[in-house]
Amino acid sequence: MTTQKHLIKVGISACLLGAPVRYNGGHKQSLLCKDVLSQYFNYVAVCPEEAIGLGTPREPIRLVGDVDNPRAVGTVTPSLDVTDALTDYGQTKAAQLNDLCGYILMQKSPSCGMARVKVYQEHGRPAEHQGRGLFAAALMQAQPNLPVEEDGRLNDPVLRENFITRVFAYAEWRELLSTGLSLQKLYEFHARYKYQLMANSPADCNALGRLLASPQQLSLETLAEQYFSLFMTALKKIANRGSHTNVLQHISGYIKHSLSSDEKSELQTLIQQYRTGIVPLVVPLTLIKHHFKRHPDRYIADQVYLQPHPENLSLRNAL
Ligand code: SF4
Repeated sequence: MTTQKHLIKVGISACLLGAPVRYNGGHKQSLLCKDVLSQYFNYVAVCPEEAIGLGTPREPIRLVGDVDNPRAVGTVTPSLDVTDALTDYGQTKAAQLNDLCGYILMQKSPSCGMARVKVYQEHGRPAEHQGRGLFAAALMQAQPNLPVEEDGRLNDPVLRENFITRVFAYAEWRELLSTGLSLQKLYEFHARYKYQLMANSPADCNALGRLLASPQQLSLETLAEQYFSLFMTALKKIANRGSHTNVLQHISGYIKHSLSSDEKSELQTLIQQYRTGIVPLVVPLTLIKHHFKRHPDRYIADQVYLQPHPENLSLRNAL
């Protein structure tokens, strides 16, 4: 994983860091973002509604009309239409912030909400299928590979671990690009992520391997673009106990000849206890790491899967 020499640049809705920028002059401070993730992330705080000049406090806005193409208007003054301003700002900001490795958005907001944002209909009630905030939509359209998550969803340990894994992977990819792309580096990157990808999506892991094995007539840049797009799609898929168990079995295969039968049986017991939900992922992984310390294997030592994010975040204690 990326070493912590420098913090990873991540965009965030400003109200999540405690800035009093909400329509009522309040905030929505997230302790996870502000106190925990800030040890690893260098935040770029953005409040789109303030940035387009709505001021604080302000009349709240809401989405209305077509769920796929809503307009943002005042809740009291429907003629206050900030659709174009929010969309233009989102497009401009997304182009400016082209060095981010992730984005944390405030949920339910007509500007920042990533999903399930209410879009009101003529009868005054929200549509059944809910929409996306206008700033969030512009950002995600401009940067489709960028890991984006909502603060509320980060309370779910599985979604939290998935998002943070993607942010660190994105940062590692940026680091690779900054040192100059080569086919060899692409192969090495893929090799290091092999088991992480297998946990998230075995099918995508194979497809990525095939893409690199026969790059056809693609230029290196096009190959890297195609690779990274599928790579981020794969990492977004949620690993489960079955796929993690599969990876644990594969990895433990590398040391099976170095372990005594008691050690093998102990490891198998823990893997099965993880599979059936008795212990969290960190338990068999800790034993596996312990064995690899005594019986090092270079290929496994390089695997991102063993530590895709800082150990201190303890993200796998809750998986
Ligand atoms: S949700 Fe977005 S627009 Fe609303 S206060 Fe927070 S940062 Fe500003």
